[in-house]
Amino acid sequence: MAQGKRVVLASRPVGEPKPSDFRIEEFAPASPGEGQVLLRTIWLSLDPYMRGRMSDAPSYAAPVPIGGVMEGGAVSEVIASNNPAFAKGDIVQARTGWQTHALSDGKGLVKVDPKLAPISTAVGVLGMPGMTAYVGLLEIGKPQAGETVVVAAASGAVGSAVGQIARIKGARAIGIAGGKDKCDYVKRELGFDDCLDHRDPELAAKLKGACPKGIDVYFENVGGAVFDAVFPLLNPFARVPVCGLIAHYNDTEAKPPPWAGVLMRNVLTKRLTIRGFIVSDFAARHADFLRDMSSWVREGKVKYREFVTEGLENAPSAFMGLLKGANFGKQLVRVGPDKDKS
Ligand code: NDP
Repeated sequence: MAQGKRVVLASRPVGEPKPSDFRIEEFAPASPGEGQVLLRTIWLSLDPYMRGRMSDAPSYAAPVPIGGVMEGGAVSEVIASNNPAFAKGDIVQARTGWQTHALSDGKGLVKVDPKLAPISTAVGVLGMPGMTAYVGLLEIGKPQAGETVVVAAASGAVGSAVGQIARIKGARAIGIAGGKDKCDYVKRELGFDDCLDHRDPELAAKLKGACPKGIDVYFENVGGAVFDAVFPLLNPFARVPVCGLIAHYNDTEAKPPPWAGVLMRNVLTKRLTIRGFIVSDFAARHADFLRDMSSWVREGKVKYREFVTEGLENAPSAFMGLLKGANFGKQLVRVGPDKDKS
């Protein structure tokens, strides 16, 4: 049996995570006991929520303990099984964290059919990020034909799907992304109606130009300066699914906005719906999501892009890059060989 590797949380970051907040350890993967399977990780998904797990600030989920394996979703192969529900060679999606091997009692393992789509999509467009876009937009945003939907981090795993689903529903989709290459991709490849660079000092004015009838749905992924540019353009009865606030994940103090009173006055007078959500709130919609999203992907109506980092030892630097926009598409780490992709 090959030596296993895992990435553990060495210290809690203050501000931006740094390399010394992570530690790589070696371990000997154990043989599966009664009812257990041994998994070999193929694809590890890196996601912005992991920044929250590195912190012990109160949240909807418990933090990773110091010395604990960094949490995360993965696509893995069963390499030994003492569980009748899983056979050697099965591909599964599992929350096994940042490690090359893991034992599981089978609870929470979801079989992945390699014939349906590349297995990496089980943590991307057909997995948690795709589901986040689907439920956040359709359950809370409720875009109507002809309305204007705005989403930032538009070339990323969630944002790219939000804009494309908005278009499927007949709405206009305006993306916001970091830099010309990402904006070109969002417009030309993903078919958004427009895309603006959030680093452009003229963002607010350009967004106003791109949304001449105002904004009906703002799918909030980032907060910060993007929210400031969007807020004055929200139409009466606009919906704001609050999915993520990546511009604030490294904040070291909570700063109340100087204009909190203005915000609430607008919520009242424009009758805005601003609703936070966690993808698991909508677990009951999972079958609908898989049915719709897999057919949209098959028909080419939803496209996706993967950004692959090679090797588990490079997961910490890839994660630090993700928080700053270094990824261009769904951030994955290839931890071990995928038979279908070289
Ligand atoms: P992405 O693949 O979009 O990667 C993160 C992107 O965020 C970066 O590439 C960067 O893109 C952008 N970004 C970083 N900092 C800023 C900033 N200051 N201003 C504007 N954009 C910034 O990640 P995901 O698609 O996986 O996640 C998108 C959002 O959805 C995150 O906030 C995440 O936490 C949230 N989320 C929430 C879930 C829920 O259940 N509520 C579930 C899954 C995700 P760019 O270069 O374009 O700036």
